[in-house]
Amino acid sequence: MGKLNHASERNRMVDTQIHNPYDSRPPVVDETVLRAMRKVPRHLFVPEDQQHLAYEDRPLPIGHGQTISQPYIVAIMTELLRLESEHRVLEVGTGSGYQAAVLAEIAIQVYSIEVVESLATLARTRLTDLGYGNVMVRAGDGYLGWPEHAPFDAIIATAAPKDVPRSLIEQLKPGGRMVLPVGPAWRTQMLTLITRRRDGSITRDDIMAVGFVPMVKGNS
Ligand code: SAH
Repeated sequence: MGKLNHASERNRMVDTQIHNPYDSRPPVVDETVLRAMRKVPRHLFVPEDQQHLAYEDRPLPIGHGQTISQPYIVAIMTELLRLESEHRVLEVGTGSGYQAAVLAEIAIQVYSIEVVESLATLARTRLTDLGYGNVMVRAGDGYLGWPEHAPFDAIIATAAPKDVPRSLIEQLKPGGRMVLPVGPAWRTQMLTLITRRRDGSITRDDIMAVGFVPMVKGNS
């Protein structure tokens, strides 16, 4: 399949799954998010034997028992962050690096932490090869965030902790937004939006039921 072919597959993915979903899920409307989803070559973030499925409406295995999220989930989580071009973003759970690339299309700098060292190495190489010089990937436990680069305008976790990690809330700027799945391992979790208001207070909104791999604590 040639490049053009993939571009048209991506456009179809955005049109039918994300912008005008064929089912009752809420549409994603933020133009910056839609543009990023049309651009990032998702097929280059999945193993070769999965590439023919890269633009389907589903998560895919990426090795080590981990998965790249369904495109719609990547899009809606990104939209919830309300990213601006000068924002600095923390991601916990680099995985394939796909979500990081989508963030990097919109924000000026992305910091991403992955606990499985070989996934971190692979994602780092892939992102560099694709020209995403504004993503820094670190191997380690993201539960504690990345204090050296805090505070962040936005934080996204793509693995589910049982409860919202206090350390991550503390690394959010006043006015900042955090999106993450919260709940027990291998059960349905709640996609949760945390907003740190300018007066310091925290709000918490339940968005939708989701299924993510658990956020592990420690190996690093
Ligand atoms: N955002 C990824 C999807 C990742 S799946 C993508 O676009 O491909 C979730 C990832 O979180 C897995 O790779 C898993 O190894 C990682 N993970 C789980 N617990 C973690 C932790 N405490 N710190 C950093 N990464 C973690």
